[in-house]
Amino acid sequence: MDKIMIKNLEVFCNHGVYKEENVLGQKFVVDAELRLSTRKAGRSDKLSDSVSYGDVSRLITAEMKKQNDRLLERVAERLAEAVLLQFPLVRSVCITVKKPWAPVMLHLDYAAVSIERGWHMVYVGAGSNMGDRQAYLTQAQEALCADGWIRNFRAASVIETEPYGYLEQDKFLNTVFGFETLYEPEELLAKVQELEQNAHRERKIHWGPRTLDLDILLFDDLVLEREDLIIPHPELTRRMFVLEPLCELNPYGVHPLYRKRFREYRENLGRESIPE
Ligand code: ADP
Ligand code: MG
Repeated sequence: MDKIMIKNLEVFCNHGVYKEENVLGQKFVVDAELRLSTRKAGRSDKLSDSVSYGDVSRLITAEMKKQNDRLLERVAERLAEAVLLQFPLVRSVCITVKKPWAPVMLHLDYAAVSIERGWHMVYVGAGSNMGDRQAYLTQAQEALCADGWIRNFRAASVIETEPYGYLEQDKFLNTVFGFETLYEPEELLAKVQELEQNAHRERKIHWGPRTLDLDILLFDDLVLEREDLIIPHPELTRRMFVLEPLCELNPYGVHPLYRKRFREYRENLGRESIPE
């Protein structure tokens, strides 16, 4: 991906853990590296096809002065968020906030925090088989759409499917949501679990009836294995009710671990379920 870079932007402001720093202020120096495609602007020579580094520098300066934070971590986080929300062409951004006069009573060039943040492409499987199933799916969709850290939301067609795992329960409505988000994986898990809670979901039987089930299927090309979060979702390739809507949104999508297209899984699974 191409880059637009801003190096050593100086801003005088008042961040710091010490009271003296908040009162007297000091010099901060910011680097910003924006990742985006500059190809279109490179061919058209139009600023509207790109991002103005002047505008970005002014935004960073204003954000730096807007409030006093204790930590450089916080300052960097706010700058990254502001740039990503203000300039939609920017896919990701690397922000470095340097403090050349850091009061540590030792000689150093500067102390700094450097972070990379960006938009992530995510697919979430949604299912419901209790109460007003369509209403639960719609509520989840509306809540995700209303979130400021989510954009370009799409929902696949809703399909009705037979129960899976525990069979003594009602039919499901299933769909898949695709969107871009600034949430990191653990934060997105907390977000979807909050939505499940809002739908009055109670976990009684594993794979049993539920008002709303939201599973993170894919998160960019990330492969993650943690106790509470596995990505790609391990059941993804075995469930028609996930593959069907996923292929609708992302017909040529590839599984990041097995490097096989989802439509191949769907076709193979379809063949297995046809009686001999
Ligand atoms: P299931 O979706 O398999 O029917 P639950 O919705 O009750 O079961 O989820 C059980 C646990 O699965 C959650 O507490 C969560 O921590 C964990 N989990 C692991 N990977 C994922 C994922 N990719 N998306 C959502 N939950 C996940
Ligand atoms: Mg789940």
